[in-house]
Formats: sequence, structure tokens, C-alpha cells
Amino acid sequence: MRRWRVQAWSLLVAEGERRFAGNEGYEDVPDSYYLYDSGVANHLNVNKGDLVVLRTNAGSLGVAKIEDIEVEENHLKKRLRCPFCKKMRFNERKFAEPKYMCRREGCQGYVEGFNQAAESMESVTRFRAIYQGTWRPLTGALTAAELDAVALTKSKQNAIRKLDVEGVERLLRGVKVPLPPTPPAGAAPTKPIAAGVTTSLVKVRTGQQEFRKALLERYGLVCLITGPAPEQALQAAHLRAFAEHRRHLPEEGALLRADIHQLFDKGMIAVDPGSLTVAIDPRLRDYGTYAALAGKSLEVPREQVPCLEALSDHYTEATSRWVQIDVSWRSIEVEGLTGHR
Ligand SMILES: [Zn+2]
Repeated sequence: MRRWRVQAWSLLVAEGERRFAGNEGYEDVPDSYYLYDSGVANHLNVNKGDLVVLRTNAGSLGVAKIEDIEVEENHLKKRLRCPFCKKMRFNERKFAEPKYMCRREGCQGYVEGFNQAAESMESVTRFRAIYQGTWRPLTGALTAAELDAVALTKSKQNAIRKLDVEGVERLLRGVKVPLPPTPPAGAAPTKPIAAGVTTSLVKVRTGQQEFRKALLERYGLVCLITGPAPEQALQAAHLRAFAEHRRHLPEEGALLRADIHQLFDKGMIAVDPGSLTVAIDPRLRDYGTYAALAGKSLEVPREQVPCLEALSDHYTEATSRWVQIDVSWRSIEVEGLTGHR
């Protein structure tokens, strides 16, 4: 069995320059997968098991380990080129005409610019690096400068830049974010890739004073999941998506501590309707305070437990999104990821 050294990469998410550097842009879903193609430097160097930091020009979006890479041969991609020199290096101007200026000195398009780029459909190999089960959000926690400081690929033009693994680990320790778990060899996501993985299961609404008051009267100053909490920390949660049901029934509501409410709405914490115990998304396992909630009983007497049907529907929808990952991230070596020799 071969041992593969884990590499680290910074992946620039489509926006601004990348979109207009001669291609039509990539429909990235930054918390689930990253698309790139054979026109991008390093496209063959990225491997399963590698650590990736998704970023914009402003800083980090999140960190993950690649669970799988899908390859699509002969993907037809629209290319935009300078109509004069036929190169893809040109800038788009938002507030001036002509709209595009070629970046190649000596080209007629460099002097005159152009409003209409030449279009062609070209065959590329397209790659989709999938990492949704190991994704940890890091929005803004690491600055562009911090990421640049650990980059081994010095050119900032590259969408995929190699990073120093230990440097990334040091940055993550600094912001108290655990390393993403190592995906098991051969693992693939257990469900189809869907946009909107992070959309809320439960739409939060403001201006629901009466509803909250009714819940405080019903339950007292107690979070359903974590127990007694100060009034300032308690929020009124709808167990069903308010947008669909348009009603404030206290029995379909619960008082939840603010952070628990967020995680509940995102489907990362749920209540097992059979055992009336707490279930957590595997991605919370490395966070001690949330990991400790797994399997614990609810904090209200059985006769006060909110509508079981609503809890059950929420549980079913939440858990169907959870990806099971073996949490063995402390090992930096990934064994046999690309098979035996
Ligand atoms: Zn040109």
C-alpha cells in the first residue's frame, strides 16, 4: 500500500476577474464542490484527501478535505477571446466603453478595445472536487494576506494555488477551527449534489413577540435542548417552516438557545422523535460543547414535548442531509487513496 502525502490548496471561488478571464465562469457551490477544468494550472495535481481552503479575493470561505473528484471528458465550454489576437487575456470594464480591453500590448484590442468578444465552444476536461461532508465554514476568519503567506504557488493569478500544509494547520489552530476529517478511502457522497445545502430548513421570522411570550409561559426559561438559560439567550423557534404554514402554534414551537436555534434551523441539530433525544450532524462532532449534546434527553417533561409530528418531519429532513464521515482526521497520511500498485 502506498502512502500519499496530503497536499493543501487554495481554491479561488468564481467572482470578478476569474469570471472574465476569457471564460464564462464556473457555477461553484463553495460549501459542496469546486469546478475547474484542464485550462487551469495544477488541475492534475489536486487529489482526493487533499486539504482545500475555499476563498475569494477577500479571504477564506471555508476549509474541507476532498472526498472525491469527478472527471468529465469533452465538456464543451464557451470561451471568450479577443477578436483581434484571439487570446483570452482581456479585462472587462464595468463603467466604460468599449466594454473589453485586451491585455496584450501591441494588439489592436489593447489600443481600441472591443464590445463584442469572439466566442467559441471548446472541449475541455472538467473536474468536480467534492467535499461537502467535510466542509467547515470559515467565512472571513482567514484574510487574503494570511493565505498568501502560506502559499507555495506565488502567482496570485492562479485559481488553484498550492499551500503549505503545516501553514494551513497553524492558521486553523489560530482561529480554533478543527481540521476537516479525512474521508475514508473510496468514499463518495451519500446523496446527489444539490445546490442550497446550507439553506435553512426553517425560515426565521422577525416580529413574533406574541409567539415567544406564549412559549416562555409554556416552558419557562428553558432551552428545549440545553436546559435553563437566561431570557436574553432564548429564541422562539418554529418547528415547521413558517413560510409554508403561516401560523404560530405554541405546540409547534420551542424555546431554543440562540446558537442551538441557528443549528436547528440549518438542520445540524434535531430531535429523534422515537427516543426524544438530541441528534447532531456529524460535522459537529469535533466541537466539544455540541458533541456533548448527542444522545441527551430533552429538557422538558414528556407531557410538554412539542408537536411530535413537527419534530419528526424536521428530524427526517435534517438527517437526510447528513454525510457520514469517519472522524480520523488526526492522521495526516491518507492511505491508498488512488488504489494499489
Ligand atoms: Zn488582443
